[in-house]
Amino acid sequence: MEFDAAIIGCGVSGANIARRLSAYNIKTAILEKAADVSFGTSKANSGIIHGGFHHNKKHLKTRLEIQGNMMFDQLRRELKFPFKRCGIIVVALHEEEMKAIEQLYLQGLENDVIGIELCSRRRIMELEPKLSTDAAGGLYAPGGGIIEPYRFVFALIESALKNGVRLYTNFKVIEAQRDGNLWTVYAEDDHGAQGLRLIKARYVINAAGLFADEVSKIFGAEDFKISVRKGEYFLLDRLTKACPSRVVFPVPTSVSKGMLIIPTVEGTVLVGPTADAAGDKDDFSTTARRLEQILVSGKTMIPSLSQNDVITAFAGLRPCLGEDFYIEASKKVPAFVQVAGIQSPGLTASPAIGEYVKNILLEMGLQLTEKPGWDPNIEAHPCAREVDFHELDALIARDSVWGNIVCRCENVSEAEIVQAVRLGHNTLDGVKYFTRAQMGRCQGGFCTYKIIKIIMRETGLSWNEVTKHGGKSHVLGAAL
Ligand SMILES: Cc1cc2nc3c(=O)[nH]c(=O)nc-3n(C[C@H](O)[C@H](O)[C@H](O)COP(=O)(O)OP(=O)(O)OC[C@H]3O[C@@H](n4cnc5c(N)ncnc54)[C@H](O)[C@@H]3O)c2cc1C
Repeated sequence: MEFDAAIIGCGVSGANIARRLSAYNIKTAILEKAADVSFGTSKANSGIIHGGFHHNKKHLKTRLEIQGNMMFDQLRRELKFPFKRCGIIVVALHEEEMKAIEQLYLQGLENDVIGIELCSRRRIMELEPKLSTDAAGGLYAPGGGIIEPYRFVFALIESALKNGVRLYTNFKVIEAQRDGNLWTVYAEDDHGAQGLRLIKARYVINAAGLFADEVSKIFGAEDFKISVRKGEYFLLDRLTKACPSRVVFPVPTSVSKGMLIIPTVEGTVLVGPTADAAGDKDDFSTTARRLEQILVSGKTMIPSLSQNDVITAFAGLRPCLGEDFYIEASKKVPAFVQVAGIQSPGLTASPAIGEYVKNILLEMGLQLTEKPGWDPNIEAHPCAREVDFHELDALIARDSVWGNIVCRCENVSEAEIVQAVRLGHNTLDGVKYFTRAQMGRCQGGFCTYKIIKIIMRETGLSWNEVTKHGGKSHVLGAAL
């Protein structure tokens, strides 16, 4: 229970830090209050690997975005998560918007963005023929891409665990004290009080996302306030005619990069997000009014967008703290590192955040010697929808559960669900994010009960203990 480093929060920031530290001869723990990893902001975002031209290089977030972007090809080879460098375009819908596009282009040149192009009307239509004929021109950044954010976090954590990191889920940090050169970190019990679960660590990293301000307070560190900016989305069916081949951005506004059209790496389409101040860190509600605005705004760029293709709506919450990321050693308490205010482009920057935090820890005196047996690779997890008939036949011959398709919308077999549960993703949402079962057109209408039965069989849980995302989110009635 005694560690060299403990990371609080297992979103994409914490997971990258954990995986980076797993390469060294130290004992690392990652503490997550949710039942699974990537259940915070890292599960509900646009999934874009940004192109490095939206912000000025004077910001730390821009420098980490540019560095992080370049790390994704190697990470994909090692960790086998869905990632595609499909490119990003920003479209001007009238001549006046071309001024803003030129500014973005110059910023991109300043930031050394590889292959960035200022596009005429003809060129932008050639790059994306589904664009409105109003398009006056635009910008093209071929190095931008798309990933499945939760699969990225799952893969990072699988790799970190393989290399010795310890993950504690359902571990909500509520109390900490310092004795000598050690932090003692306590988890909440079932009644909201300080429980018996605790770990000790020499260094603590605060990567608690929306709640980084509360965690900082628990450790007596800096006093700051994370505010929330909500982003609402529409998800469109994979059969939509409006799926672009590149991520399509409008000209950005003063508060956000605007509402986009994103071809997800798995073939569906996202439209959004909005950017509205929200008071509540747990408010994931969506509103008909904002969703209507998303559709209207999306149609100005791609007119074939249709409400008939909408499968569902959801919202993500940005943890905002000024304009930049706040990543540095605490000036108030010893052996405590702040990784806060990680709003967009946090997903893109996250591999570079891992490296940056490792260097901060080195400067603080943590001894890091490379682990000789460190293995950066994890096994690929085959999916029924991705293999050809011959490969599927071979998988079925090995194990007949490959032939039982549980989620017909996304073509997910029983074997994949079993694998998710055995890797620890044993809530309905955990299974969904690992396999995509419940993510298709019927949104789980036909497969949820089958998945519950598989979770029960694999874990020994009873029907009233299976949850949607842990805690009290029981699906078939509260456990006794
Ligand atoms: C609408 C939207 C769109 C976005 N689009 C993009 C994009 O396209 N590209 C991009 O690069 N970035 C994007 N981002 C930003 C990106 O999603 C975030 O920067 C990133 O997910 C932040 O990750 P994190 O690990 O810092 O935080 P989180 O993912 O929130 O992780 C923090 C974790 O800490 C845990 N935690 C909190 N309190 C405690 C506690 N007391 N004890 C233990 N655990 C605790 C939480 O449960 C959570 O799992 C977007 C964000 C939003 C909201």
